[in-house]
Order: sequence, then structure tokens, then C-alpha cells
Amino acid sequence: MAREDYEVVIGLEVHAELSTKTKIFCSCPTSFGASPNTHVCPICMAMPGTLPVLNEKVVEYAVRAGLATECTISQDSKNDRKNYFYPDLPKAYQISQYDKPLCEHGKIEIEPSTGRKAIGITRIHIEEDAGKLNHDDFGRGSLVDLNRAGVPLIEIVSEPDLRSSEEVDLYLRKLKSILEYIEVSDCKMQEGSLRADVNVSIRKKGAKEFGTRTEMKNMNSFRSITRAIEYEIDRQVDIIDNGGKIEQETLRWDEVSGKTFSMRDKEDAQDYRYFPDPDLVAIKLSDEYIENIKHSLPELPESRKQRYLTEYKLSEKDANIITSSKYLSDLFEQASKICNNPKAVNNWIISDISRILNETEMDPVEIPFDSKQLAKLVQLIDKGTISSSIAKKVLVEMFEHPRDPEDIIDEKGWVQISDEGAIKEVVLKVLENNQKSVEDYKAGKEKALGFLVGQAMKETRGKANPQMLNQMFKEELK
Ligand code: ADP
Ligand code: MG
Ligand code: ZN
Repeated sequence: MAREDYEVVIGLEVHAELSTKTKIFCSCPTSFGASPNTHVCPICMAMPGTLPVLNEKVVEYAVRAGLATECTISQDSKNDRKNYFYPDLPKAYQISQYDKPLCEHGKIEIEPSTGRKAIGITRIHIEEDAGKLNHDDFGRGSLVDLNRAGVPLIEIVSEPDLRSSEEVDLYLRKLKSILEYIEVSDCKMQEGSLRADVNVSIRKKGAKEFGTRTEMKNMNSFRSITRAIEYEIDRQVDIIDNGGKIEQETLRWDEVSGKTFSMRDKEDAQDYRYFPDPDLVAIKLSDEYIENIKHSLPELPESRKQRYLTEYKLSEKDANIITSSKYLSDLFEQASKICNNPKAVNNWIISDISRILNETEMDPVEIPFDSKQLAKLVQLIDKGTISSSIAKKVLVEMFEHPRDPEDIIDEKGWVQISDEGAIKEVVLKVLENNQKSVEDYKAGKEKALGFLVGQAMKETRGKANPQMLNQMFKEELK
């Protein structure tokens, strides 16, 4: 059978590191990138006799995430111990939530090419991150860094509602943007602040039962998630087509070979011997507490999008791209206000800026310039100081060596030539060197004009004012 004869079923478990200042059960800082084992204390190092105290901010952030994804918030929740042994887990258990998660039964809407649909959120629970193993370069062993141990996480578990890698991509982007909007996580995927376990299975089209799934752990780039899913679907189709059976197992995606490898058999909940953590009290939330958080939530991507359609008359597609990231969306609104030209700002964001972000796999939050600088770029074109083709080069420069667009133009000598005498000189030179095109134009080939303008642009390295060039050529050719 062919791949088209199967339906793909995918469910995601997404871990997001919360951006609270301190860890979940102690007051160590959570910031990324410190020297190994400098953000630690007896509690997160699991010294005997220490006791955890739940950071209230963690509950608040998780409730925010729950409300923003339309979950029901549990007023009676608790922490459980998930027991397993691994060198990066000093207590030999992780404090998580088992049967009473903070949030349940939510949803996130996506718009794939097959039409709008809702993806169910099974649950969102809070838990602590583990430490990190650094494998030493000499192969003598591994070093444990406990800075990350005890950093708060939320795990967002989706229903197996996703049906393609396209839907997974859209779902993850939407989830990421929601978490960014409500400011509970910086969602920096390359730093591991947002990572997904991807569960994939296939079944014959029309079948009622789900197929056996495999789980790819800790994926942290959109590109590799798509690649890994496509690979895994092909692998499963191949096995079933050849009369084989899918083993339920945990897989590791290898970016270099583009393949998945088996890590271990899938573990079951019972393997973890979950039980309520006796060191922590139940988490009881009042109606008032939940209401207050609800009222503090900012405008979410969906509502911003609707506003952009009416207030700025953006197209649905553009509004989708811009509101997908809070950072892009703020950049758009602020820059538009400063330069009073939302149409131009929109164009920059959805074309050149998006292209550069894509090519460099950069996250919008890493854009090295601010709304003032983007607005300045638009104003420089509007005032005729630079042409739009030069502006494109200025933008690249703003990404590569961030500084004010005016400084870039000064340094590079990119100010547009709008001096009539200088333009005329170029036009005459180009006309003299391109007799053939002149004849063509006179014989009625309008296209020849474009060629001549292009030559003049080349001659001035893009600096000539294009409107003036056009006009001057027309006059001279009369
Ligand atoms: P566990 O906690 O053991 O990993 P869960 O039953 O909680 O297992 O499911 C984890 C994730 O796997 C969920 O996101 C769920 O939607 C997804 N999932 C469950 N069954 C399937 C399946 N047959 N195919 C694809 N995904 C699945
Ligand atoms: Mg799992
Ligand atoms: Zn600590």
C-alpha cells in the first residue's frame, strides 16, 4: 500500500521552561548560561534533610498558560514524585504532577490547508527540570551540571488530534506564540526552553483503533521536527507494508543522518512508581485567584490578528505571519506608530525580514534592531534619502552589524543620487553605450527602457533615484 492509504496520528508533549526568576522549590536563579554548578543550593542538589517549598509564581504562570489555552483550572491539585534513576536527577525522582494536573481539557486552534481545526489540550502540569550531563571531550566520562535542576517547567500534553507534519508545525508555532504573549516562557528553542516529545503512529484510512506509536524525545527545532515526522511516517509505512509490526519505543532523531534510532522500550506510568510528594501540601486555588489571573492576561494572538484586519487593513495571511510572534507584532505596531506607514512596515516584516529569519533560522526575539530603527529605515525611503533597493542592503547590514540605518548609509556612502545633473550624466553615458536598446525603444519595444534604467542603476550601484532615471530616459529618448 502507498503512504496515502494511511492516516497519520500525532500527539505532542511540549515542555516549556518558565521564565520565573527563581527555581520551582528553592530560591536559586533560573538564568541560562552560567558556569556549571553555580546556580545550586542544598535543595536543588538534593542534600538529605532539605525540604522543597513551592514557588507561587510557578503556579501563577501555569494557570496563565491554562487560561490562554482554554483549559479548566483545577482548584485542587498536588505534586507527585516520578521515580527514575539517571545521573542528572540527584533526588532519583522528579517532582511532577500525575493524576491531578493544574489544567485540563483545553484547546488551540490552527488553520492548516485543509481548514480550521481545534487541537485538544489534554492537560498542563508543572514539574521541575533535571540537570544536564556534559560529556567530556576526552571520553573519560560525563560531568553533571545541576544549574538546570529545579528550573520550573510546564508540560503541555495534546490529544492525538494532529494529522500531519504541517499541523504539528502550526500547532507548535501557535502554542509558542501564546506562551510568548502571556510572558510565561521565553520559548528559546535553541536553549532548550521549548522542546517537544513527538508521538507518531499510523493506521489504515478508516480504521477506528489507533496504531502503535513511537515517541521522539526532546526535539527543539521546527525544521527537524518536520523532517523527523516525515522520516518516521515513511519508516512505519514501510514496516507495515512489509508485514511487520511497529514496536512501541522511544526514539532519538539524529539530525546528521536524518534517521531515527531506538533509545529504549517505551516505559509505562507504573514504571515510575508515582506517589504524592509528602513534603509538599496540596495546591488549593480560590475562584478569586483564578479570576484575577484571567483579568491580567494580555491580548492574545487571535484577537490581535482580528484587530489588524480592521485597524490596519492587513491581509489575513500577513496578519497571521505578524501576530505569530509577539515580538514581530510589537515591532509592527511600534514601528508603524513612529513612521506612520503601517503598509511599508508590514511589507518589510513579511518579505525581507521574514526571509532573513527563515534563512538564518533566527527567532524573531533575536532580531538585533528595534522598532525605532525599522521605522527610521521606512522614513529614509519615504523621504527619498535612499532607494528601496539600497534599503534592502541596509536591512541586511542591520542584521549583520546592528547600528542605526543612518550610520550605515553614511558609512557606506549609500545616499540616493537625486541631483539632476548627476543623473543626466549617467543617463547620457548609458544611452551612448547601449545604442541597440535605444533603437529597440524607438522601434516600439517598451521593455528596452527597463533595461536602460537597470544599466544606470548598475552604473550607480543602486544609488540613483529610480523615478528620476525613468523620467530622464524618457525625455532624452524623445
Ligand atoms: P505517556 O505519558 O506515557 O507518554 P500518554 O498516553 O499520556 O503517554 O500520551 C502521550 C502523548 O502521546 C499524548 O500527546 C497523546 O496525544 C499521544 N498519543 C497517544 N496515543 C497515540 C497514538 N496512538 N498515536 C500518536 N500519538 C499518540
Ligand atoms: Mg511521554
Ligand atoms: Zn537551589
